[in-house]
Amino acid sequence: MTHNESSTPSPVDVLIIGAGPIGIELAVALKQADVNYIHVEAKQIGHTISWWPRNTNFFSTSERIAISGVPIQNNHQGRITGEDYLAYLRGIVEQFDLHVNSYETVTSIERHASHFSIQTESLTGPKTYTAHNVVMAKGDMDMPNLLNIPGEDLPHVTHYFGDPHTYFRKRLLVVGGRNSAVEATLRCWRAGAEVAISYRRKMFSDRVKEHIRPDLLAQIENGTITYYPETIPVEITPHHVVLQPVCEGQPIDEADPIIHPTDFVLLTTGYRADMRLYEMAGVNLESDRRIPQFELETMETNVPGLYVAGTTAAGMLQDRYRLFIENSHEHVVKIVKAITGRPPKRVGTIPARSYELALEKFDAN
Ligand SMILES: Cc1cc2nc3c(=O)[nH]c(=O)nc-3n(C[C@H](O)[C@H](O)[C@H](O)COP(=O)(O)OP(=O)(O)OC[C@H]3O[C@@H](n4cnc5c(N)ncnc54)[C@H](O)[C@@H]3O)c2cc1C
Repeated sequence: MTHNESSTPSPVDVLIIGAGPIGIELAVALKQADVNYIHVEAKQIGHTISWWPRNTNFFSTSERIAISGVPIQNNHQGRITGEDYLAYLRGIVEQFDLHVNSYETVTSIERHASHFSIQTESLTGPKTYTAHNVVMAKGDMDMPNLLNIPGEDLPHVTHYFGDPHTYFRKRLLVVGGRNSAVEATLRCWRAGAEVAISYRRKMFSDRVKEHIRPDLLAQIENGTITYYPETIPVEITPHHVVLQPVCEGQPIDEADPIIHPTDFVLLTTGYRADMRLYEMAGVNLESDRRIPQFELETMETNVPGLYVAGTTAAGMLQDRYRLFIENSHEHVVKIVKAITGRPPKRVGTIPARSYELALEKFDAN
């Protein structure tokens, strides 16, 4: 019987939830250690990397996002795009012949005395698995941070920046002030859109990539891109957006709202994780960011046998993006050691290009 069949098989050693880069790196390590595991992915592998424009460059350099000791080579020695990285991940899955149950979503986890029972929804219907250990490698970008304002669900409003071409010779209002907002604003303007940007603060964050911040400021100064500093959208209609002037995030009552006519609205307000599987399994979620409680040495949560790997370890909301691919390789090391007693053969890039893994510097709080 295969593990894909719907009758309940005997427990496997590990079930991995999520096939982003860290889930895949863990699968390679478990396969190399001859651990009996099942890997379930709600969409296609690398899904989180697939929904931003494919030709967007990673800000991490390529050796930092390489996994399982397989180098990333290209013909320009610069940062790679999301498209390049998806091809790399497909190559990893093929090279190590990993079996990923894609388009299968884990919908519930239940802890029993000696194992977990896991329910999924696949393309062919519900399935049940049992496993001694579960690793959550489910990322932290399940859904957008909603503004909860009227009109946010209109068809010309999106939280996902898909393709600058969409906005050619159209009016676009971008809302936000971090990397994604600044990059989308510049790219859509260069693609021929008439772009305005609204941000709740006076100035864009210092953490915006240094090569794009001055570029945007220059366009604003030239008047080619319109900037509405210290404003928040309070209503979206099919024709315009109502922007409320604010001071330190608080509405200025006496200030008149700004009516900005636009064809499209891109809300780059960040994303958050769905923490319901953690709740079902009995994991303690700490602080308003709902960080799963886990041991730094092993990545095991307060629920014995349930581990966290990758960006999901940061909880529901990464307000300052502290966990990335490059500082999550060490999660794989810790989990494989905890489960098998031995470290994995290789994580990250090839040994000759290793950089310090910030094991002791990792701060879960
Ligand atoms: C524009 C942009 C640029 C970025 N640039 C960088 C960069 O330069 N460097 C960097 O390190 N990071 C970057 N990131 C973030 C990067 O996407 C994450 O760091 C990386 O994807 C995290 O890997 P992960 O394996 O922890 O989780 P993810 O890649 O998010 O993988 C989690 C997987 O779990 C699946 N999943 C979720 N719930 C379930 C479920 N219930 N059942 C089954 N499967 C489930 C998801 O479909 C997903 O495929 C960028 C993100 C964006 C949007």
